[in-house]
Amino acid sequence: MVTRAEAEHLVPEVPTTPYFAGQWAAGNGRTFDVVDPVTERRLAAVTEAGPAEVDGAVSAARASMDGDWGRVDGEGRAALLNRVADLLADRSEEFAVLESLDVGKPGFEPRAIDLPQAIRTFRHFAGWADKLAGRAIPTAGYRGRPTLSYTVREPVGVVAAITPWNSPTMIGAWKLAPALAAGCAVVLKPPEDAPLTSLLLASVFEEAGFPPGAVSVLPGRGAVTGRLLVDHPGIDKISFTGSPETGHRIAVAAASGFRRTTLELGGKSPQIVFADADLDAAAEGVAAGIFANQGEVCAAGSRILVDRAVHDDLLERLVARARAITVGDPFDAGTTMGALINARQRDRVSRYVEAGIAGGARLLTGGGRPQRTGYFVEPTLFADATNSMTIAREEIFGPVGTIIPFGSGDEAVAIANDCDYALAATIWTADLGRAHTVARRVKAGAVAVNGWSPLDPALPWGGSKLSGQGRELGRPGVEANTEEKTVTVVL
Ligand code: NAD
Repeated sequence: MVTRAEAEHLVPEVPTTPYFAGQWAAGNGRTFDVVDPVTERRLAAVTEAGPAEVDGAVSAARASMDGDWGRVDGEGRAALLNRVADLLADRSEEFAVLESLDVGKPGFEPRAIDLPQAIRTFRHFAGWADKLAGRAIPTAGYRGRPTLSYTVREPVGVVAAITPWNSPTMIGAWKLAPALAAGCAVVLKPPEDAPLTSLLLASVFEEAGFPPGAVSVLPGRGAVTGRLLVDHPGIDKISFTGSPETGHRIAVAAASGFRRTTLELGGKSPQIVFADADLDAAAEGVAAGIFANQGEVCAAGSRILVDRAVHDDLLERLVARARAITVGDPFDAGTTMGALINARQRDRVSRYVEAGIAGGARLLTGGGRPQRTGYFVEPTLFADATNSMTIAREEIFGPVGTIIPFGSGDEAVAIANDCDYALAATIWTADLGRAHTVARRVKAGAVAVNGWSPLDPALPWGGSKLSGQGRELGRPGVEANTEEKTVTVVL
């Protein structure tokens, strides 16, 4: 068990300036504070990338694609990505501790999820780097002569990767690994609330031996560095994870020049529990689905749809699980839920709790703020809710679950799909036929039955409606960083 003091000792070792063109930039006089969500004290002052750094990073990225990085073949890219995975594996404890400190989440989460997943993501896409083949396509020929037509996959260009604060290392890996495997150069803009592990990641890329310009990390606020990057004409693709509001702005900015985007936005995911489900397993899965990572998860199962026949039984189990959660300092033994990222997020979650009560839902447990320093909110459950209530419709991005009863499978599907988001869903049932049927009928990018879908770099990830556009991970994730070019030879 690492103590808070030991964790804080790691912070001075983290670089605090932009990294681009293979170098750490000097401070430019403009910094922003990174605040610890538990102590509310400043952890670090980080230099914000401004116009000169954004321009420098994009120019270096372009030059490296036209030069050293562009000449690295698939096998070479695979070797470099595997080297990143190795280095990250060697330093995973350091990364996990810093992620815990910066984001406010208990250390078992980055140790069990964020770091192993980031490492697997680099390895998975290392495997794709030399396998991005085109296709040979038969045609009707040309003026009576046969033709040979084939396609090749070429890197889309310079990719801007913009990440949120809930899992910066893992989501950073989701963007960096496929883009680099495809041969793109990447400029990463990490979240201003939790940039430390992304800055440390830049040092891993440096040590792995990537040519200068292939990877840059530009810390800064969204409205400053993020906006400069998105508006830069040298960016060919924007890969963004964050809120629908920012996603919309980015889509509009990208439309100028018809630049590519992959947008991974929010969610209001249903967890549907049928009467024949294993209720203990369902309660465990549903509770993890809404309370893991303090509920700051895009796929959080915040709408809990329960068959009336087992409604009270499940409620009892869920309340017991919520009350068994220990909210506290991530570095205290026994803590199972940490702090929210900042005061704004904590206040936003509290406002939703008030809206739930005012809207007539029954507060089953939680709802308050522990009397202590830090941006904490208790694990919260509402019952007797309807799908039209604010707490059932809007993304809260905190540990607040809303339980809605249903009377039939059709009603469950109708409630699940009556939503502005479509990212993820879980279904709990012993009936195999129903599992598959409902999985097909629910509008979501990913559906899991009797568990949470394993986070796996091989599985496409993304949603539709307000949840975004396009897919990360898997084959579509790497192909989204390529252009398919057609070549025809008249024989
Ligand atoms: P946010 O949109 O405020 O910020 C996300 C990132 O965008 C940050 O790096 C921020 O600096 C940057 N940004 C902000 N304004 C910008 C602008 N005008 N131009 C360019 N960049 C800008 O979101 P957040 O509050 O950090 O994250 C929470 C949201 O992210 C939630 O809605 C959540 O559901 C979503 N999220 C989605 C996924 C997914 O995979 N779908 C994963 C994690 C989080």
